Amino acid sequence: MSDAPFEKSGNANWAQCPKCDHWFHVATTLLRMTDVDLICPGCGHSFASSDAKELLEH
Ligand SMILES: [Zn+2]
Repeated sequence: MSDAPFEKSGNANWAQCPKCDHWFHVATTLLRMTDVDLICPGCGHSFASSDAKELLEH
């Protein structure tokens, strides 16, 4: 739970799980596939990218 995505650089996208607030890396191609759910590695919750609590795109 101590992830610090803001300290990372590069072409990474980050999503925040709406269930447990865990931040995790998301490939750009995954974000573009709107019919594919993201799966939180923290709690296993799956959700559409549009349902993410927050999204960081670089
Ligand atoms: Zn989660």
